[in-house]
Amino acid sequence: MALVNEHFLKLPNNYLFSDIAKKVNTFKVTHPRTEIISLGIGDVTQPLPNACIEAMHKAVNELAGKETFHGYGPEQGYSFLAEAIIKNDFAPRGIQLDTSEVFINDGAKSDTGNIGDILRHDNSIGVTDPIYPVYIDSNVMCGRAGVLEDGRWSNVVYLPCLEENDFVPEIPDRRIDILYLCYPNNPTGTVLSKQELKKWVNYALANDTLILYDAAYEAYIQNPDIPHSIYEIKGAKKCAIEFRSFSKTAGFTGVRCGYTVVPKEVTAATLTGERIPLNRLWNRRQCTKFNGTSYITQRGAEAVFSPEGKEQVKETVKYYMTNARIMKEGLENMGLKVYGGENAPYLWVKAPGGMNSWRFFEQMLYEANVVGTPGVGFGPSGEGYLRLTAFGERSNCQEAMVRLKRWLKG
Ligand SMILES: *Cc1c(COP(=O)(O)O)cnc(C)c1O
Repeated sequence: MALVNEHFLKLPNNYLFSDIAKKVNTFKVTHPRTEIISLGIGDVTQPLPNACIEAMHKAVNELAGKETFHGYGPEQGYSFLAEAIIKNDFAPRGIQLDTSEVFINDGAKSDTGNIGDILRHDNSIGVTDPIYPVYIDSNVMCGRAGVLEDGRWSNVVYLPCLEENDFVPEIPDRRIDILYLCYPNNPTGTVLSKQELKKWVNYALANDTLILYDAAYEAYIQNPDIPHSIYEIKGAKKCAIEFRSFSKTAGFTGVRCGYTVVPKEVTAATLTGERIPLNRLWNRRQCTKFNGTSYITQRGAEAVFSPEGKEQVKETVKYYMTNARIMKEGLENMGLKVYGGENAPYLWVKAPGGMNSWRFFEQMLYEANVVGTPGVGFGPSGEGYLRLTAFGERSNCQEAMVRLKRWLKG
């Protein structure tokens, strides 16, 4: 008899985005002629930079020739891409990395979800709350999160990010083995200053904590003082793994490419206290379970760093951040409290009159025909908020503001 991994059965059946889809479908059935504007799901809408498209066409043609064909590639990714990443994303910020410390993957979701493979099942976990659900659910699947009690997992330490603390989590009063940080943050759209991030690195160094740092949205940072990488902080190479993605930067959500930095210095302990470099374990894990990202994709990602690619990415980021500004100003003019949207493509909107997240969501759907994401779906501290994304078409963002204004006035 084959036995199932029963930890999977602990996961609640309701997946946030399928719950939303159900409610939107119900609305559509009863209002067939109403056009809905979706500012809910965090997918991008602008096409890939032309530089990436051209590079991928060229790579396809290479595969057609005997001399230029590429079969299985290195599981860690091609060095041409790792070198371009180091040269463009890290060296200009004074961060020295070796290509063996950069692992190319098929996106940040895969690696943030799989990194737990190389860590014991009984480590304690800390997350900022609200949070990207992958961090918790992937720990539930291996039993590391414990059991669900009143919407909270028993082995997870929740660090609330609320209006009262400006959405900056407080340093916990106890030690945590593994801590997830995501900045710029999904869903709140808020960032950590260098000073604040430094506190976390110092906490990690003092408490022997491993930080899993998700920087998928670093390209959206506008303020020059905000760190793009955790390695801008001294000592971070000893305690942090960083995840990056081309998804939100260059429209690769369908193409699939990202990377993970595992510095040689970052270690974790065995029960007898021996320190093991995590780079070695992650390399072993990837070589066994991952086939690498396709050659075509990696050539496309490399082109993100070409002069044309950089220019095109800059334009796309500007487009989305202009959406964010239009929406933030619009919502604030309506008297709503809005956070984020200045260094991230997300707006975190406080529901007026103490309404809860789902009620705010439903009223906005039925009365303004605009879809957001209920904040409580990202964790208990998200209750009373709604996330709007700036990834839509400009005209949709503008029309959404007109509708919301009409609704809130009425
Ligand atoms: C979108 C997103 C990612 C990127 O995921 P990919 O798998 O690279 O597409 C990673 N982390 C967060 C928090 C995200 O919102």
